[in-house]
Amino acid sequence: MSAPRYRSTRDDQNTNVNFQEALLRGLAPDGGLYVPDTIPKLEPNTWQRASSLAELGLNALTPWLEDDFDQTTLRTITWDALSFPIPLIELGDGVYVLELFHGPTLSFKDVGARFMARAMSTALADRGERLTILVATSGDTGSAVADGFAGQDAIDVVLLYPKGKVSPVQERQLIAARPGVRAFAVEGDFDDCQRLVKAAFVDKALAHLPLSSANSINIGRLLPQSLYYLWAGKHLLEQHPGLTEFNVCVPSGNLGNLTGGVLAAKMGLPVKRFVAAHNANDFFPRYLRGEAEPYSFSPTTPTLSNAMDVGAPSNFERLHALLGDERLKTWVWGTSVTDEDALKRMKRSYDAHGCYVACPHTAVGLEAVARYRHETGDDTPIITLATAHPAKFPEAVERALSVTPPTAPALERLWHEDTNVETLESKPEALREVLLQLAKVR
Ligand SMILES: *Cc1c(COP(=O)(O)O)cnc(C)c1O
Repeated sequence: MSAPRYRSTRDDQNTNVNFQEALLRGLAPDGGLYVPDTIPKLEPNTWQRASSLAELGLNALTPWLEDDFDQTTLRTITWDALSFPIPLIELGDGVYVLELFHGPTLSFKDVGARFMARAMSTALADRGERLTILVATSGDTGSAVADGFAGQDAIDVVLLYPKGKVSPVQERQLIAARPGVRAFAVEGDFDDCQRLVKAAFVDKALAHLPLSSANSINIGRLLPQSLYYLWAGKHLLEQHPGLTEFNVCVPSGNLGNLTGGVLAAKMGLPVKRFVAAHNANDFFPRYLRGEAEPYSFSPTTPTLSNAMDVGAPSNFERLHALLGDERLKTWVWGTSVTDEDALKRMKRSYDAHGCYVACPHTAVGLEAVARYRHETGDDTPIITLATAHPAKFPEAVERALSVTPPTAPALERLWHEDTNVETLESKPEALREVLLQLAKVR
């Protein structure tokens, strides 16, 4: 069997590329997203019998990537990327939380970023090429990318964040001194940062520089994100002999994480239904209920679960291409949760489940689980993803619980580490100058 090839969601000519090309390009030349032309079906023992997450990762990814990396290389990439625990915690009443926040920057984005960095670095080394990763960030993506890509041969990272507009903890995570990473505090807001990045990608004076981005449009982040669904399923099925299927709830923004889950299900994970948990940015739940046309996106609304503040989820296009309208609407159930309801749920979970502290994103998921069960009467065991560590959001946790969340050693350490940050004017010429300089010193 040969590995899947990738075609653009907007291409009807059936042209396709291999994984390495899809990985290095990110976005397809026609502006679409890469989707696999086939999805390997896994033998249950490849994931149910795996003794570690890394072993599961290697087994599950081999049929996907065997044409792109040799087995030794793939083993190194998965072992390096999946190097932290991902525990499945039982809250009670058949509700399980999959804690994805034990990586270096304490959000699930570490999984995709670490894998993608290593895969890209290997692919570039094979080709004798270099690449600059340009990211605009207001939250978890920036720190996960900076940390994941730091020290990778052949890759430089340029990180832009809005000066004075991220929390102190977030800022520390972004400006920690890391080899190969330059962080810039932009004199503007997040939209200005994104505008600068977009301008750089179409700047003729930079056309000769190899630039790429690292957001969840990249298939290289989604493939590894399917692995922890398999890992959670393995543990749940072990704990419930005779259980044949279960539900999965995903706190969602750009819908990359949910797409990872859908890939896992298509590989053979027995997911009965997905629950898409959104904050006030509710395009997707409205679409699922038939109240919004595909692509009728709205402007972004800021909320406490800020990593999910996405008005126009870019992975919608990919999900739609993978499943089609009808399957999406029957398989996925969605709801939109206000900040107030998320904080109340944080408090209820804390009181009901032995002082369990959820971050604001995870709380949106827990509230969605309660609503799904109440509205459908379906109390099949359900796994809900805990996407970030509560210690990253002390203000919201204090507001909900009137207690300070336990700190995390990875955050404590930051206050003692070196930092490295420069200020950048919010002008395309300023960023152009930085990128040209960087190209010169290589
Ligand atoms: C990015 C992020 C999300 C949303 O994930 P998507 O893949 O964009 O749907 C949810 N929670 C946290 C903590 C995140 O960082």
